[in-house]
Amino acid sequence: MTRTCGFDPASVEFARGHFIGGQVVEDATDHLSVARPSDLIPYADLPIGTADTVDRAVTAARQALSSSGWATQSPRERVRAMRRWADLVESHQEELGRLEALGSTRPISQVIASDVAGVAEAIRFFSEWADKLGGDVAATRSNDLGMIVSEPYGVVGAITPWNFPLSMASWKAAPALAAGNAIVLKPSELTPFSTVRLAQLAVQAGIPPGIFNVVQGTGAVTGDAITRHPGIAKISFTGSTRTGTAIMTAAAESGIKPVILELGGKSPQVVFADADLERAADCIAGSLLANAGQACVAGSRLIVERSAEAALVGLLQRKLSNIVPGHTWNASTDYAPIVSEIQARRIDRILQQSRDQGAEFVMGGQRIEGYGGAWYQPTLLTNVTAATAAVREEIFGPVLTIQAFDTEEEAYALADHPEYGLAAGVYTRDLGRAMRAMRAIQAGTVWINRYTRTMDFILPTGGYKRSGIGKDLGRQAVEQNLRHKTVLIDIGADQAAR
Ligand code: NAD
Repeated sequence: MTRTCGFDPASVEFARGHFIGGQVVEDATDHLSVARPSDLIPYADLPIGTADTVDRAVTAARQALSSSGWATQSPRERVRAMRRWADLVESHQEELGRLEALGSTRPISQVIASDVAGVAEAIRFFSEWADKLGGDVAATRSNDLGMIVSEPYGVVGAITPWNFPLSMASWKAAPALAAGNAIVLKPSELTPFSTVRLAQLAVQAGIPPGIFNVVQGTGAVTGDAITRHPGIAKISFTGSTRTGTAIMTAAAESGIKPVILELGGKSPQVVFADADLERAADCIAGSLLANAGQACVAGSRLIVERSAEAALVGLLQRKLSNIVPGHTWNASTDYAPIVSEIQARRIDRILQQSRDQGAEFVMGGQRIEGYGGAWYQPTLLTNVTAATAAVREEIFGPVLTIQAFDTEEEAYALADHPEYGLAAGVYTRDLGRAMRAMRAIQAGTVWINRYTRTMDFILPTGGYKRSGIGKDLGRQAVEQNLRHKTVLIDIGADQAAR
């Protein structure tokens, strides 16, 4: 059942340490003060895990793998334990929801209806793969038997961003665990605490202590130590392209580890004049307002056929005016704060730079004052080119640039971003054109006459170009948590045939 109760942020209790070997551990000498995005008031100190803390977590993970049978028992046991975990997430939806809403940009009503519900479903989805991906028997000549055997990596390292902390943690942990791995996960230092509760529920569900470990800390110290630890066999990262580059370099320098990178985006929304404009405006506005644009797949570049531009922009102005900003712990809030003052200043900078380059503001462009934290007005920018900062850079705020086109070819050229290729939206009633657009656009996901994911977790997500390598979600996410051993056996079939 969906609950939308507001709550007192001071009433929320949570563990402040790392979670290693099934225990909350507070062994850090250095701490970081963590603030609530809604009012920027510090509410807890976060221990900064060192290379020693990471080593302790990796040791706990290895011991758990060797003593618990997580990877070696019947895979159905993993299915059962993970299902119990998903059930516990659901039965703790209010507690998890409050913790997430307290420490992140996600309004409580949305956390409970969408994020926590999605986490439970993602865990269930991945649990179901645990006994279904064993490998293949290969086509060989008859006196040999060739097999490709799937095996878990052992200890997987994961590093997650701040924009959807619980969802991102579940997208990393659930496929890794379903495949028989243990995980050492570092959440963002801006939104660290809900992930520990998720891991505690895993242990409560019967997943052996040490299989899901959380090490808290900063990227430069703790994240780097995870990436470089020799006992971690693979890294799965979600975050910015800049950090993804550093992680790929560190993984190469420290032992050639495979890396899965889910990185930034600057996704186009291509609207043809024959589209259902009301529907297109709903989808585009929805994408911009979701987490106030702080989503990797935010459709932040509108590319619209010139004859439909005025009508569509009018619709968008109306739909983007309907927002309810407020603290994330108020039940009525539907519009998220910007995560930090640093991030708000980044939006200020890109907008100022765009203004200096000639961009004109159709609406927005200012902060919304009065709540303590930083909120940004939904912002529409016109008179922009491919060189304008707001068109070029990932903003991670509620900013939509508008560019008009006259021909299909021009639309696809504008849609193409020199760096990013995460997602795209296409709106048209012409099936042939929709398919041509799908082929022409360089992106890991193309949504047609809709925008954003559903709970069909069978559909993977991931980027082209510098938006990333590999996939989260889908069968692919489990396969990426398995490595493949080739076996060739001489079975002497020739002799038997003689
Ligand atoms: P970020 O890159 O600043 O940080 C992400 C994580 O990496 C954090 O946990 C951080 O502590 C850690 N980190 C930072 N430096 C590190 C280093 N040198 N070594 C190891 N770890 C390090 O990103 P963010 O600001 O938290 O999140 C926003 C970014 O995430 C955006 O670019 C967004 O597009 C991207 N994102 C992508 C997806 C996707 O699926 N493609 C999903 C969500 C967010």
